[in-house]
Amino acid sequence: MTSTVPHQALYRRWRAQTFADIVGQQAVVETLRNAVRSDRVGHGILFVGPRGTGKTSLARILAKALNCTNLQDGDPCDACPSCVSIREGTTLDLIEIDAASNNGIDSVRSLRERLPYPPGQLRKKVYILDEAHQITGPAWNALLKSIEEPPPFVVFMFASTEPSGFPPAILSRLQRFDVRRLTIPEIEGKLTRILAADGRLADPAAVRLIARLAAGGMRDAESMLDQLLSAAPDRIGEAHVRDLLGLADAEVVDAFVGFLVRGDAAGGVALLDQLDERGRDLRALLDQVVDAIRLELVAGLHDPSRAGHDPAALAAAGRRLAAIDPNRVGIGGLRFQLELALFAPSATERGPQPSLAMAPSASTAVAAPTGTATTPAVRQGPGHPASPVATSDPADAATPAPARPGPTRTVQLAPAAAPTHTAAPTPDDAPPVASPAGSPAPAARPVGGSPDLDRLAGGWIEVVASVGPATRAVINECRPLSVEGNVVTLGFPEAKAFLKDVAARKAKELDAAVGAFLGRSVNVRCVATNVELPLPPTTDADLVLAEARRIFADDIVEIGEVS
Ligand SMILES: [Zn+2]
Repeated sequence: MTSTVPHQALYRRWRAQTFADIVGQQAVVETLRNAVRSDRVGHGILFVGPRGTGKTSLARILAKALNCTNLQDGDPCDACPSCVSIREGTTLDLIEIDAASNNGIDSVRSLRERLPYPPGQLRKKVYILDEAHQITGPAWNALLKSIEEPPPFVVFMFASTEPSGFPPAILSRLQRFDVRRLTIPEIEGKLTRILAADGRLADPAAVRLIARLAAGGMRDAESMLDQLLSAAPDRIGEAHVRDLLGLADAEVVDAFVGFLVRGDAAGGVALLDQLDERGRDLRALLDQVVDAIRLELVAGLHDPSRAGHDPAALAAAGRRLAAIDPNRVGIGGLRFQLELALFAPSATERGPQPSLAMAPSASTAVAAPTGTATTPAVRQGPGHPASPVATSDPADAATPAPARPGPTRTVQLAPAAAPTHTAAPTPDDAPPVASPAGSPAPAARPVGGSPDLDRLAGGWIEVVASVGPATRAVINECRPLSVEGNVVTLGFPEAKAFLKDVAARKAKELDAAVGAFLGRSVNVRCVATNVELPLPPTTDADLVLAEARRIFADDIVEIGEVS
């Protein structure tokens, strides 16, 4: 560092001082500015959002704005005595309370005792209660009256990651502002500005890696950068970031993903050996590999041509990793779990699959359906049998991509038609969330149905995807029951029998869509049926997204935005 001033944490030094300084959060900032401009800031404010995203910074800026003597279009000037005293922390009229350590009734009592005294210096006396979800029930009760009818010069601001535990009586009295996770570009942008201002250098890839690892929290990103800067390499590279956090190289992560997807246990185990020797943290590796799979899955959603690995195998690998408990210690521990994940079902169960072996050249029909191309990427999946014993669950057959929406519900389709459920034919599918071993499906599979029916059932999702939105919602609920000559019968669940009438009115569109799929002219007939139908599929993208979401919870949306 070139400066001689004592080290002050980056996130403090770079804390936003005005609304204009705030990175991201445009919606919240604009609402707050408007409220300030029109003098409509209430006396109870709540900031909600993940840690390190700027809730208390916003609260302080709002406190400044309420007291600023030289407002700039709703933004505090950061130069008048009020603003300066808040920035420097010298005023007694801004009271910041860490509710995590002052959560009890006593703290609230002493707060209440001082409440009636007007501010000594500022216009408004502002209480900022951070980590407010830690406030206890009795303390909330003691606080309620004050929040209901505070002195006119008092404003309460609460910051919380988890406001669901607030008493409803309190929540209903607060103006709520939701602060979101920052995107990777937003974090990158600020880190780059910090580096430039400090005259320090970093590879863009290193900055990007920090931004990704921070998972939406600017404070974490700034802390990481701070540590790297104090280690003082001339130029921060990706390797520095990895070293700091004990991360494996990108190539290693990619290689491990490849081993997982291919079920190459030998390669994967050898790689784990190398990492052990180099003292790399397997837990971090797990995070990195999950992150890499997530990014690739999502990238494939946005642009199928970018999908590197087969999405189904990739999602299956993700599922196997998601089942790992990184905290498990004892014999084997994390290492053993990672090794187990390498033994993909693909390696052992894919092999002599009868239906696959028997599948005539017609099996390519599924891979190259006529007409309705929706997602080319997913089609490169493992060949799906089109033989009579093929699965007929459209979710299975049409989308080798992360196919099954959530836990597989075992359902029986019309006996005459092909069976619905099975986990087997998707070679790379993972056991943990797919059908548990010994699930009833395979045995119940009748051998029958016509090739056309199997093909149609297997590719039903493509037919669904090929029609207009209004029709799609309707035929999403039905399944092909039979194909006899040029008559195709679609079955609707009896509970939704009304849909068959709706569908019948769209017969022309259905004739065309089913005809395009089968490659010949057909007439569609709609019936209600009391056989259990499989869960309705949605579009391929929806299925992949639903699957990814299930695996990776809510993080997916953020990643989607930024990748
Ligand atoms: Zn000011």
